[in-house]
Amino acid sequence: MREHAAVLEALGCRVVLVKKPEQLEEIQALVIPGGESTTIFKLAEIFGMLQPLRTSIKNGLPVLGTCAGMILLSSQILDPASGQEGFGGLNTTVRRNAFGNQNDSFETDLIVTGVHGLVHAAFIRAPIIESAGDGVEVIARLEDGRIVGVRQDKVIGISFHPEMVGDGRIHQLLLDLI
Ligand code: GLN
Repeated sequence: MREHAAVLEALGCRVVLVKKPEQLEEIQALVIPGGESTTIFKLAEIFGMLQPLRTSIKNGLPVLGTCAGMILLSSQILDPASGQEGFGGLNTTVRRNAFGNQNDSFETDLIVTGVHGLVHAAFIRAPIIESAGDGVEVIARLEDGRIVGVRQDKVIGISFHPEMVGDGRIHQLLLDLI
């Protein structure tokens, strides 16, 4: 989260850490960071954020989800932890930890629609988008064709972490949706 905040501040944003449902009214866009999607889901439930988040996303709040954040935006999670559901936003099917244990972290350069030049992307126990349904634009793929970035209306989901390398260009795509 700190890395996202730093990137957003460098782009001129005022950053608020959203912990309560009413804070969703104050913001113009939301980043759901990486981490562990099962933990983020449980915390959202405990803090009473589940329904408010779903409603805000449905009502058009621009959102960027990275890695675990993207998992939680997907309409279908293939191997969810028990009780884990998404926040909605992306008509996608996602597979968690898609790169297995041995090869679970790597870096590569990607072409991302809407971004000039290559994006250096860190994949950390990353998910893959197995399928993208109606209304979903694929914005990034690995060389082998697997989908690692999508956009649907005002929701962007990416499997990787541009904030780790201080790259704000995908955050700029989010700001452009405001
Ligand atoms: N593997 C994690 C999950 O399932 C995601 C990892 C990440 O966000 N870097 O939630």
